[in-house]
Amino acid sequence: MTDYEIVIGLEVHAQVLTRSKMFCRCAAEYASAPPNTLVCPICLGLPGVLPTINRAAVEKTIMTGLALNCAIAQFSRFDRKNYHYPDLMKGYQVSQYALPLCREGWLAFDAPDGTARRVGIRRVHLEEDTAKLYHRRGPDGQAVSLVDVNRSGVPLMEIVSEPEIQSAEEAGRYLAKLRAILRYLGVSTGNMEEGAFRCDANVSVRRRGERELGVKVEVKNMNSFRAVVLALEFEAERQVAALERGERIEQETRGWVETGSITVSQRTKEYAHDYRYFPEPDLPPLVVTPAWLEELRARIPELPDAKRVRLAREHGLPADVAAQLAESLSTADLFEQAVARGAPVRAAANWITGEVFRLGRSGPGVVDVGQVTAERLAELLSMVEKGTISPASAKDVLAEVYRTGAEPAALVEQRGLRQVSDTAELERIIDEVIQQNAKAVADVQAGKQQAIGALLGGVMRATGGKANAQLATRLLRERLGL
Ligand code: ADP
Ligand code: MG
Ligand code: ZN
Repeated sequence: MTDYEIVIGLEVHAQVLTRSKMFCRCAAEYASAPPNTLVCPICLGLPGVLPTINRAAVEKTIMTGLALNCAIAQFSRFDRKNYHYPDLMKGYQVSQYALPLCREGWLAFDAPDGTARRVGIRRVHLEEDTAKLYHRRGPDGQAVSLVDVNRSGVPLMEIVSEPEIQSAEEAGRYLAKLRAILRYLGVSTGNMEEGAFRCDANVSVRRRGERELGVKVEVKNMNSFRAVVLALEFEAERQVAALERGERIEQETRGWVETGSITVSQRTKEYAHDYRYFPEPDLPPLVVTPAWLEELRARIPELPDAKRVRLAREHGLPADVAAQLAESLSTADLFEQAVARGAPVRAAANWITGEVFRLGRSGPGVVDVGQVTAERLAELLSMVEKGTISPASAKDVLAEVYRTGAEPAALVEQRGLRQVSDTAELERIIDEVIQQNAKAVADVQAGKQQAIGALLGGVMRATGGKANAQLATRLLRERLGL
């Protein structure tokens, strides 16, 4: 393996978050509607209808291009990609081929070894999604395929990288960063499991030092980041083993088979499609004026890299903690707003990257903060800081707040979690415990430090388990002159 270099290029299809479809007025939230209810003559491609370009989809794609440091074409065009498959009612897909909206950008991310990497973005273009096929068993046990055209015509952007990614793990980092940017921009949910973010991975290997790229294989059918990484690892190893046996790599498309953790051949170059692309005759060229471009540039929010640098600088956070908080806008905002409401910086950062991540992180760059608002977090942390509740109770309270949106102070009262943190009261109780446990006191004074546990136990019993343990221990030691 070490004699070889891995070369990877990724093609990501991300559904663009718009109200309506790419070329008609049908609603784009296809997933929640009953099958085949969001459809019209335009997205079915019936003869004689005319499509119109969805302005919001174009704007979101341009913003993505800008965030990926691309050049935005002043003049681009839609093309027809012709092929026949049951998921394509029209017999062609409207896409962009020769003149894409965005070209020649780059994406920066941290490599697994911590070094900064930059991978070229070849293009970002806009197209329409196809229908969704369901392969099922019919009533008589026969295999049937069902078609749901709700997804037909939903806007998709395709983001194509240069072949510059150097390992499967790097591919995972690239995808995580790309998804974080799309989510920051609010242009896509990036949800891979739901098919809103799909990745075709091209991979080749070559002997170290060789200048020509090896023959590439395209791998499809991965529906999680982990699957992409595993599929690429498998495929690179398969190619190296084949070369070592003296075989040649065939250019082909392979599918990832999750259950076997292998890739299998789906289509070889011989059967490669000829899409017969030609300019879409029913749509005008897409012209992006400088004024429009500037307007869109101004709409780009602070992105993950800038966010993490600023969080580290303004709040004095370690770089890795700032990076974790900046992974998603939800946690970065929660942190900053909680701090603005008086939450201590380190505690806020720790509780978010610890407990909130545990409760709501479903993958890199995706953290659902549930019902935890900045007010609720700040209130909870202030109770921990004052010793009103123990950290252990605070964890339980946070989990409940996350789920239900209950107010922390009310929960603490309701559950009787308030600790005894009143110094005078604890000292009074400690004095009683000391009087009643002469033997334990003598043991402690004879150097048996463990005996202090018995005394602390007495304090806990006297308070029904509600003494602030940290404070009680300190006061007890002071009283005993330790
Ligand atoms: P195709 O015409 O088959 O779609 P492209 O040249 O357009 O191929 O590239 C598609 C994707 O494959 C891009 O992401 C690109 O970076 C990647 N790619 C191209 N050649 C290689 C290679 N030899 N090894 C790995 N990836 C490659
Ligand atoms: Mg391709
Ligand atoms: Zn429609």
